Amino acid sequence: MAENISFFQRINEYFDKAAKFTDYPQGLLEQIKICNSSCHFTFPIKRDDGTIQTIHGWRAEHSHHKLPTKGGIRYSMLVNEDEIMALAALMTYKCALVDLPYGGAKGGIKLNRKDYSESELERITRRYTYELIQKNYIGPGIDVPAPDYGTGENEMSWILDTYLSMSPDKLDAIACVTGKPIEQNGIKGRKEATGRGVVFGLEEACSFEDDMKQVGLQPGLRGKTVVIQGFGKVGYPASKYLNEAEAKVIGIAEADGAIYSPKGLDIESISAYRDETGSIRNFPDATFIENPNDILEMECDILVPAALENQITAENAPRIKARIIAEAANGPTTTKAHEILKKRGAMIIPDTFLNAGGVTVSYFEWLRNLSHVGFGRLGRRYEESAYNAMVHFIEQATGYQFSDDERQTVHGADETDLVNSGLQDTMINAYQEIRETRFKYGRDIVDSRTAAYINAIHTIAQSYMQLGIFP
Ligand code: GLU
Repeated sequence: MAENISFFQRINEYFDKAAKFTDYPQGLLEQIKICNSSCHFTFPIKRDDGTIQTIHGWRAEHSHHKLPTKGGIRYSMLVNEDEIMALAALMTYKCALVDLPYGGAKGGIKLNRKDYSESELERITRRYTYELIQKNYIGPGIDVPAPDYGTGENEMSWILDTYLSMSPDKLDAIACVTGKPIEQNGIKGRKEATGRGVVFGLEEACSFEDDMKQVGLQPGLRGKTVVIQGFGKVGYPASKYLNEAEAKVIGIAEADGAIYSPKGLDIESISAYRDETGSIRNFPDATFIENPNDILEMECDILVPAALENQITAENAPRIKARIIAEAANGPTTTKAHEILKKRGAMIIPDTFLNAGGVTVSYFEWLRNLSHVGFGRLGRRYEESAYNAMVHFIEQATGYQFSDDERQTVHGADETDLVNSGLQDTMINAYQEIRETRFKYGRDIVDSRTAAYINAIHTIAQSYMQLGIFP
């Protein structure tokens, strides 16, 4: 275990540090911190070769202060009860911080998906869902899973189908899981939402001149060099949008090696190369680095851990040179590493904020499912004709003729536009609130992580008080 405390203990340490800045009764703070319920279940599956194997799965619902609870399901060999409880707790704080009406949850199955065929994964996922249904750990108003490390749209559609088959008469059953394929009541933009949220969050965090001055950088993302660990569901879209924002992604690390090019990496070519060869190893046009951890220590402005927890530790933190650590993964930095980086004057943009884009767009998907109508369906054409009429009046009044390009910008908002603007708004507001809290207590005293926890604690405490539990 990293630095002798468990992952969940680490999250609780962060919590305790922040709780000192509030004056809520100790009992209430304990209630917020504790994991409300968790479940470990085992079940057998028949492998393709006929052998029987026992599968271990978990689901933890960290906080019931708001229902449903929300959080992904991961497939990884690191899954255990402590990890799932820690990740569920992070979901609670994340949802509170970005103002989503959910308690936090997380689930997982201990397996390496590369060891299983597609049909084995389907059987495992369906059986896991069946266990969740039996134990009342899934439902549109109970607990709503989503993708996480090692899972994606396929798993979500198996979960949906299993749930639907067992609740044929429930009108809202399609809202039992998010991150579904578009054709199965998913929402546009969910797949890339975490990566997009990371870039919206970074844009906002890098926009303040005095904050950037403190880390010796210019405001804005333009020209900033970036190293990303992980080129999956989060790292790949994040690197694409970072390049679009004119930052320069110079290094990418995957589990089996890293690639580096000081002149900047072509993200689409790397993605195509990885699809073809199964790996980023030996991508032409870049230097290949055998040990992926080495690249975390490269000279760069922004380091984006976008893979798993406990990647930046007391061991490697002293050698990390990045000015900004952008926590796209959940829990990538250990407590000791956090202190080392802080002492060196680096800016840490915390996970509870920075990777909240995924669950934010999950929220939009859930709302869409509950309302049974796509965003933009009612208003888009009306908006568009109102804008067109306005353009026409301006042309008549001024004699100016808009070009075709200028006219292109006049259109009613469709689902993608609304999802992206809702996500951007969420990220900007949450960051500004974090910043306000830092200024309130003194920016040298309260860092962004602590401020994020303080804000989350306030939100959760308020909703407990609204429930009348702690008058
Ligand atoms: N697994 C993602 C996370 O860690 C998304 C969870 C969700 O959409 O519910 O935030």
